[in-house]
Parts: sequence; C-alpha cells; structure tokens
Amino acid sequence: MTSEVQVEVAIIGAGVAGLALANILEQANISYFVLESYRAIAPPGAASIGLMPNGLRILDQIGVYEKLMEHAVPHDYFEHRDGDDGTLYGVLTAGRHLTTLLGYSSHAIPRQTLLKILYENLPDKSKVRASSRVSKVETSETNAVVTTEDGFQVTCDIVAGVDGVHSAVRREIEAYVGVTPSPDYLASRSACIFGCSNRVAGITGGQFFNSHRKDTGLFILTGKDDRPYWFLFDDFKEPIKYKETPKYTPEYVEALAEKSKDIIITPGVTFSDLYAHRRDVTTVSLEEGIAAVWHAGRMFLAGDACHKMVPNGAMGGNQAIESVASFVNHYRQLRARHPNQPIPLAELNTALESYTDERRRPVTHHVEKSCFLRDALLKRGPNIEGYLQGLSKGNIWDGLYKLAEPMSRAIRLEDWHKKTERTEFYERQAAKMREGLALPSILEEGRGVKG
Ligand SMILES: Cc1cc2nc3c(=O)[nH]c(=O)nc-3n(C[C@H](O)[C@H](O)[C@H](O)COP(=O)(O)OP(=O)(O)OC[C@H]3O[C@@H](n4cnc5c(N)ncnc54)[C@H](O)[C@@H]3O)c2cc1C
Repeated sequence: MTSEVQVEVAIIGAGVAGLALANILEQANISYFVLESYRAIAPPGAASIGLMPNGLRILDQIGVYEKLMEHAVPHDYFEHRDGDDGTLYGVLTAGRHLTTLLGYSSHAIPRQTLLKILYENLPDKSKVRASSRVSKVETSETNAVVTTEDGFQVTCDIVAGVDGVHSAVRREIEAYVGVTPSPDYLASRSACIFGCSNRVAGITGGQFFNSHRKDTGLFILTGKDDRPYWFLFDDFKEPIKYKETPKYTPEYVEALAEKSKDIIITPGVTFSDLYAHRRDVTTVSLEEGIAAVWHAGRMFLAGDACHKMVPNGAMGGNQAIESVASFVNHYRQLRARHPNQPIPLAELNTALESYTDERRRPVTHHVEKSCFLRDALLKRGPNIEGYLQGLSKGNIWDGLYKLAEPMSRAIRLEDWHKKTERTEFYERQAAKMREGLALPSILEEGRGVKG
C-alpha cells in the first residue's frame, strides 16, 4: 500500500518524546504526522515513569498537567538502606520542598497513563498511525521522504527521530554522514527487571526506596493507591556491547527474583513481598550513551534515540520532553524567518546544530548522574561507600540544591501562549536560583506565594 501525506514534521515513534512533540506542534500550529511501529498507541505494561518538575512544566504548558495529577501523589520521602542487613543510610526529604521551590513535585505514574493522556489530548487521531515501522528515510535539499515497511510514505520538511534506543533514524543519520558508532556506545552494564505490584503493607504512596546491595540492588517508586513500581538491577560486572546482551528467559527472571528475595526494603518488608504481589514484570538491558551525531540532512534525534540513560535518576523521559521542547523553540524561530516558505537546508542545519549544542551538556550530566546512582545501588565503584555514609550527614539544603539546580536551567517552551500560575512561578523561582540566592530565602518567598 502506498499513501501520501505531506507535513512539516514527520515524527517517528509515539513514545514519550513523540507524543509530547505532537502535542507541542499541534498547539504551535505546525503540521505533523506520527508513525509508530507498535500495533497500539499507549500499550499497557509494567513500566512506570517518574515525572519531575522540569518535565512537568512542559506538560503543563501543553495543558495535560491537571489530567496527570489525577493519577499521581507527590513524592516526599526517600529511604536508603543496606539491602542485606537493613542498615539505614539516610532518609532524604528534599523532594517534599520541590513544590514550594519550583511549583511542581515529583510523581510516579504508569508510563501508559502518560502516553494515553498525551494521545487523548491530540484532537485529530488520524495524524497518528500505528503498525507503521519506518524502514527508510531519504533526505534532499528540499524535503525528506519517510517510508514504512508497508510502503506508506510521508513527505516532510523535517524528520524527528524519536524512535527510542534502537532508532532507525539514528542509523539513517550515521549512514548519511558516514559515521560508525563507537563500540562502547549503548553498552549495558546492568539488566533491570521492572514491575508493579499490588499494595504491600509497609509501603505507602509518595515514598521511594533504594536497597543498596552488591550484584542485585532494588529501587522502588510508589504512586497513587500505594502502588509500588520496582526496579531490580542485575550487575553485569563488565559492560556488554550493544545487542550482545543475553536473552531474558522466564528462568532468568525467576532465578534473579529468588536470589533477591531477602533484600530488605524497609523494616518488615522484603523483595519477596513485592514479588508475591506482582502484576506485570518485564526485563530489559539498560543501554547507556550519547549518540555522536544528532542530526544530518533534514533528520534530527531526540530522547532515547540520542541520549539514553539508566532509570535511576528518573530523568530519561523528562529529558526527552525537554529535548523536543528545545527543538520546537529553535524551529519556531526559523519558521518565523521563513513564513509560508520552505526552510533552506543550510539554515535548518544551523538551527539543528544549535539545538544539539543546547541539549548535549545537560543530558550528559544526567547520563553520568544516573549511572552513578545505579552504581551506588549496586555498591560498585570506588566512591560509593563514602557516598552512602554521607547520606545521613547531608544538609537538606545541599540535597535540595543538587536535585533542583539542573531544573533551574531546564528548557521550557519559549513565548508560549499557554501560561499558568505554576509555569510563571517556576520561572521566577528558577531565575532566583540561577542568580545564586540562598535556597531558604527562595523557599520563604515561595511559601508566601503558595500560602
Ligand atoms: C525500567 C525503566 C524505568 C524508567 N523510569 C523512568 C523515570 O522514572 N523517569 C523518566 O523520566 N524516565 C524513565 N525511564 C526512561 C524513559 O522511559 C525513556 O527515557 C523514555 O521513554 C524515552 O522516550 P522516547 O520517546 O525517546 O523513547 P520510547 O519511549 O522508547 O519511544 C520510542 C517509540 O518509537 C517506536 N519505534 C521504534 N522504532 C520505530 C520505527 N522504526 N518506526 C516507527 N516507530 C518506531 C517505539 O515502538 C516506541 O513507541 C525509564 C526507563 C526504563 C527502562
């Protein structure tokens, strides 16, 4: 079957980045079409996502924040323990000040809920096509043509490669510029069994737990209705190259669960309690890395396709949302210079280069920080004991500053028509952080505004 659609932006992938981008373009009145390889949009599954203030502000700007909050409780308590003997390393409560500081908290919700809300917010579902795996992208001086495995074609000005870690658009970009990725790119140093469970006594909504342990460590976020979302990490010891990780059989999962059954989460609760109450379970390799080249011709990458991080910082999806917002900020400026005309390739390249420059540094920080947090969970590496022992000694302001400082420099949609009290509050408070004002005084002012 061949069909022809002509739009400004072809979005490849209806994941977090793809559906966020579709919503932004919809509201910016920029035409788009989404191609998704999977047979369903927003499929069910075990995955959850921790939404942080930086991602939430953009989701607020596109008008889905309130709907998301119907499924969320704020996170306000983070316990770190030794997974073997239950020793308490520290309780971090910095997260409970995020709302007073920036107007948004952090929340864990099912990933499907986020995707569903983003999809339902699009007024015209005919612009999203499932069962459409992109197999070819041709890019020229004047346009690009995207072709799916079933021969469906989209002609566009720009191709947004938001097709995840195994990105087909990234392969097209590499072929276009003649680059071979480094052998270390997207190597995995751990696998992760993630799942959600029914309510378990001793764990309530809004609590996070880290059970640090050699070989297998456990990380838990809890959401509405006290639902625990958990992530059990298996240390590979040595990095395994991209696409060379083992197949995860049911026997592998059972053996890892058995090996981890005594991990202490909090007094009176072990991993076996979570596992006994499990609903959905999935196993993945955790690839890590930043692509060498992010754009070529009329193609660019965002999200896991070019900045893939492990989940321990709860930032992969939030950074994916920031990246597509950054692209749109650059693109809207370009478009304003060429109203109703095709955008010259040279200018597009300059804009995409500037997009890449803006995003490469912050995502590198988050890839490295997430990696450190994962290593701390697995008690791996030279500085980890010091970090764990320091958790009880840390000053709350230092903890809050470390958490919120990157958020004070986060991307938002510029000159955006949809303003809320929260988006404006975030910007005012973030500006004070960037100016170096002391956190207690910024919080004090925040308290005054928020009552
Ligand atoms: C266990 C786990 C827990 C996580 N927890 C968090 C968290 O708490 N907070 C957070 O911010 N992030 C978290 N992340 C990371 C987050 O899920 C990802 O960073 C985020 O989903 C990336 O979004 P994306 O749109 O770039 O890619 P994806 O969400 O992977 O979407 C890519 C889409 O493209 C489609 N696709 C692929 N190839 C093609 C093709 N050829 N043609 C058409 N479509 C295609 C795929 O089917 C998919 O729908 C977690 C990740 C994992 C693995």
